[in-house]
Amino acid sequence: MKRFDFVIIGSGIAGLSLALKAARHGTVAIVTKGARAESNTRYAQGGIACVTSAEDSFELHVADTLDAGAGLCDEDVVRSIVTDGPARIRELIEAGVHFDERELEQGASVAELDLGREGGHSRRRILHSRDVTGREIEEALLRAVGVNPEIVMLENHIAIDLITLRKLGHVSADRCLGVYVLDEASGNVLTLRSDRIVLASGGCGKVYLYTTNPAVATGDGLAMAWRAGARIANMEFIQFHPTCLYHPDAGSFLVSEAVRGEGARLIDAKGLQFMAKYDPRLELAPRDIVARAIDAEMKRTGAKCVYLDISHKPAEFVRSRFPNIYETCLKYGIDITRDPIPVVPAAHYQCGGVLTDANGSSSLAGLSAIGEVACTGLHGANRLASNSLLEAVVLAHRCCEILAAQSVPSESAWPVELPEWVSSEMHDVDELVVIYHNWDEIRRLMWDYVGIVRTTKRLQRAATRLRNLQSEIQEFYWNFKITTDLLELRNLATVAGLIVDCALLRKESRGLHFTLDYPGTNERFRRNTIVQLN
Ligand SMILES: Cc1cc2nc3c(=O)[nH]c(=O)nc-3n(C[C@H](O)[C@H](O)[C@H](O)COP(=O)(O)OP(=O)(O)OC[C@H]3O[C@@H](n4cnc5c(N)ncnc54)[C@H](O)[C@@H]3O)c2cc1C
Repeated sequence: MKRFDFVIIGSGIAGLSLALKAARHGTVAIVTKGARAESNTRYAQGGIACVTSAEDSFELHVADTLDAGAGLCDEDVVRSIVTDGPARIRELIEAGVHFDERELEQGASVAELDLGREGGHSRRRILHSRDVTGREIEEALLRAVGVNPEIVMLENHIAIDLITLRKLGHVSADRCLGVYVLDEASGNVLTLRSDRIVLASGGCGKVYLYTTNPAVATGDGLAMAWRAGARIANMEFIQFHPTCLYHPDAGSFLVSEAVRGEGARLIDAKGLQFMAKYDPRLELAPRDIVARAIDAEMKRTGAKCVYLDISHKPAEFVRSRFPNIYETCLKYGIDITRDPIPVVPAAHYQCGGVLTDANGSSSLAGLSAIGEVACTGLHGANRLASNSLLEAVVLAHRCCEILAAQSVPSESAWPVELPEWVSSEMHDVDELVVIYHNWDEIRRLMWDYVGIVRTTKRLQRAATRLRNLQSEIQEFYWNFKITTDLLELRNLATVAGLIVDCALLRKESRGLHFTLDYPGTNERFRRNTIVQLN
């Protein structure tokens, strides 16, 4: 068993930002299941929303966030995160993050930040580093973490499960005490003990067939928190990004919202714009509206995709503002300065998650959650574009302040030593094909039955199938040697089940949850959907 003052699961913006601050207060372990840079953060393109211009105000940013959140945001949380933004942005810049600046105007001595515009924002307020903002942030934070002697980075180590008092047989109180972690290289399971365990494990896009998320986004942290008995909220609100590149060889490549922010138009195969039929804000309507409009157009015409066209803008501007999107599309034979880009919606962001307060504390003592895995109340029923990087960096700061100030309860109250992982007589999984089949089935089932437009019947069908799959996977889990694939499959099945459970509980349409059986909003459901394992 190894002890640390802080154990952080995940090395995206949330985990790394927290680690740098926590290292001032004690020893830190970052557990990360792939290479250290692999995360949703790394792929963020558009940027980070923050009020930095004299033409903008905190109240405008708050109003835009509340508007997107469709009545479910916690206004106090929204205001406090928006207001804390500028201080955290300054720290990112001090850590070496470079945000694009405008060209110096004649006579000016200080360059201003170049602010992007995105759907749902009433002002230009998106700080960005060309169209690779996430990579810029991730690399700067990793450089800082790499030279910090208090931080141990456990790469290619996947967290399996949280260790709690209840799991150890205590009935009177519960608390998170540690975490079991599989070292992929050796196959050994480590026991990490800490009074401050923080989930910064990101989202669950891989639960859907089409997603903008990388392979690591399998909802592990959420599933672990659920099994440990923490409260989970609002998992029905999955954001589908309207514009993912549609090309057989492209995998999942996002075409940033900022492209629409700079004037790109959505058109059908005949070259006709269609957003006017759906929303007066046209291409700059919030994501859920744009995604549903595209879904409806595709269903109406039977087309496999729609097109995003920015070819009317000067080619030099397009190339310099979106170099990554330009180069990537060019690889697939699409010159975006001349051709419209084929796009489809894809699962992008989980607005719900482990329910926390405004400092990232979950309902389970000893366990915090920050970043995409958490549900703080900022996003409500729909996230405003570029608010997630902001939330992650603000919550990392607050979580550190709270954890560092907390007096840790006396150890006599519970075991200091934790039991080692027991891997009885286990065999290697003999039929890997079954794992891959189940994996595919869950992702397709979620796409077909629990996607952008839902019905109760489809949700019930998904729930029944998922229950069978969960028990099949559980059998595998107990009878075979654990592997990363098996752990991820088990977590995917759990998270898929939670999305369906939450969706069935919400008998209305609001924000990202749209069901044909209850097409309107209903005041009775103006509340969080909260689920918890008994
Ligand atoms: C393509 C794309 C573009 C985006 N663009 C923007 C944008 O412009 N602006 C914006 O605000 N947001 C954007 N987002 C969303 C944003 O990037 C994420 O919400 C944010 O980066 C999440 O940060 P995080 O630190 O919470 O999680 P992540 O960055 O996803 O990091 C999670 C970490 O946890 C690790 N992990 C997961 N499970 C385990 C486990 N069991 N054991 C050990 N480690 C584990 C992962 O390997 C990873 O290191 C985008 C997302 C995508 C996918």
